[in-house]
Amino acid sequence: MATGFGFTLKATDGAARTGVIATPRGEIRTPAFMPVGTAGTVKAMMPDSVRATGADILLGNTYHLMLRPTAERIAHLGGLHRFMNWHRPILTDSGGFQVMSLASLRKLTEEGVRFSSHVDGSKHMLSPERSMEIQKLLGSDIVMCFDECPALPATDEVVAKSMRLSMRWAQRSRDAFGDRPGHALFGIMQGGVNRDLREESARALTGIGFDGYAVGGLAVGEGQEAMFSVLDYAPGFLPEGKPRYLMGVGKPDDIVGAVERGIDMMDCVLPSRSGRTGQAWTRMGAVNLKNARHKDDPRPLDADCTCPACRNYSRAYLHHVVKADEIIASMLLTWHNLHYFQELMQGLRDAIGEGRLAGFVAGFHAQRAAGDIEPI
Ligand SMILES: [Zn+2]
Repeated sequence: MATGFGFTLKATDGAARTGVIATPRGEIRTPAFMPVGTAGTVKAMMPDSVRATGADILLGNTYHLMLRPTAERIAHLGGLHRFMNWHRPILTDSGGFQVMSLASLRKLTEEGVRFSSHVDGSKHMLSPERSMEIQKLLGSDIVMCFDECPALPATDEVVAKSMRLSMRWAQRSRDAFGDRPGHALFGIMQGGVNRDLREESARALTGIGFDGYAVGGLAVGEGQEAMFSVLDYAPGFLPEGKPRYLMGVGKPDDIVGAVERGIDMMDCVLPSRSGRTGQAWTRMGAVNLKNARHKDDPRPLDADCTCPACRNYSRAYLHHVVKADEIIASMLLTWHNLHYFQELMQGLRDAIGEGRLAGFVAGFHAQRAAGDIEPI
């Protein structure tokens, strides 16, 4: 475990856990939801507002930042925290997932991935060593190993070959990361939906030794049932005393199901992206503010929510600014969505701490099943 970085498990309830990750830049309460600040900003939000929703940590994207404005420029300007004015912990992904989904002219070899930028066509190379260098230049608190993630469904042969490449890259990431007090390096388990491959991957990673472990290669098109069936066993292959991170998840019910199965950290663009398309996530489920039913509705989006969108505005106003494409629509709905996600995490943490997770989860599902308030 890196000096200055630590994980304390405080309570468990079934497979679910609650605890605290300590870093020199502040504590991360787990289970934690990390808003995504793709290009040095959580879109439509000021950093203070993101913090006000209850976020302890943000995620930054290596792929986007290396292309624009470049990691070297950010380092020169004092690192990512200072650059974006977020002084709490930042986790950066390795760039591996996005290079495969966004870049053009990709060439994957044992060495790494050569590709052309989707921004300006410029040529780049990402390898375990280069990814570690970039994440160090950014000043990331939690660094992710460079890995390869096949899209599912894929044959066991394809998944096994890719997983073993990722495990060789994990060793190279560990070697390149070196000893950096106060900074953590997480390994990423692969293996698709194959239990034996997941176990083999976990053994390889724990043999190398990391400060935390991600369950990678899920939420890539396999569906919730398949994802949960992997999460029924995969977290159990990882050391109990280290944080477990499920990458790219998810919808509120994905989050609840993952936490029930022993996941400690998650990230997703969903609350911020939905906020820019007129969709709100609430205790009653998803609410589409574009819908004409809200046109004359003077009631708040959620009467029990304390976010600025719900405290100060009506559904009619939110409907109007969404329809008129006003910037405040993105601001208010992103704030509400992030607030709701963080409130859900706090509810999960409290319930696990007090040994009443089953009741909390039953209430969560019952409220969603009852649906949105009746139209006026
Ligand atoms: Zn709200």
